[in-house]
Amino acid sequence: MIKVTHVRRIFGGTAVLDDVTFALEKSCVLGLAGASGSGKSTLLRCLQGLDFPDSGSIQCSGRVCFIFQDFQLFPHMTVWENIVYAPALGNKKTDYAKRAKKLLKDLGLEAKLDEYPVRLSGGQRQRVALARGLMIDPDILLCDEPTSGLDFASVLDVVALLNSVRDRGVTMVIASHDLDFLTQMCDRIVLLKNGTVAADISPRMIPSPIDYLKHQ
Ligand code: ADP
Ligand code: MG
Repeated sequence: MIKVTHVRRIFGGTAVLDDVTFALEKSCVLGLAGASGSGKSTLLRCLQGLDFPDSGSIQCSGRVCFIFQDFQLFPHMTVWENIVYAPALGNKKTDYAKRAKKLLKDLGLEAKLDEYPVRLSGGQRQRVALARGLMIDPDILLCDEPTSGLDFASVLDVVALLNSVRDRGVTMVIASHDLDFLTQMCDRIVLLKNGTVAADISPRMIPSPIDYLKHQ
């Protein structure tokens, strides 16, 4: 589903990604761990095609959707307009409206259709961003720091939300510095350190995955 081969990305003479190689099967949930500045967002941007490796190659099969760390909702549009804007551009029929209504209901946003993003909580904005992404029926979901700044209860909500996406069979790559969250969520964790792959593990297969990753 995703194949990353010897990827290198250089900014200002420094390799921010250096010889990154891994492959991911369909429906797998991959955690991209690493300290701030280790290259997680750069790798996600390359997977989405928002940035390009200087060398190496990336293959992603199917439609890819990116949930940005700051969600990037259109501030001048309501929840409903945010969600139907892109599908409405390319689709003269009205079937996208039915789909949008179902997604908003599934994500508990029915009461917020006419609200502007500024009047939503962080968790609600995240759900709008997810609904907007799911409108394209993605095969791959990329998620950048979905739990940043959230309290413990809200992290559990994000876990539940992303598990509902997993149940749709979507392949996911989730970048986060939060090892607790990633070990709860992911089938596999790739740890980036200064742009290189320092570990590639299945957290359920080893006894103390967090300790293991901390010592790499
Ligand atoms: P992470 O998401 O793991 O915190 P990033 O991928 O955002 O890391 O950044 C990795 C490194 O690349 C950082 O040192 C950052 O300053 C640098 N970097 C990221 N994007 C750019 C850019 N567009 N131009 C120059 N340097 C960048
Ligand atoms: Mg980042």
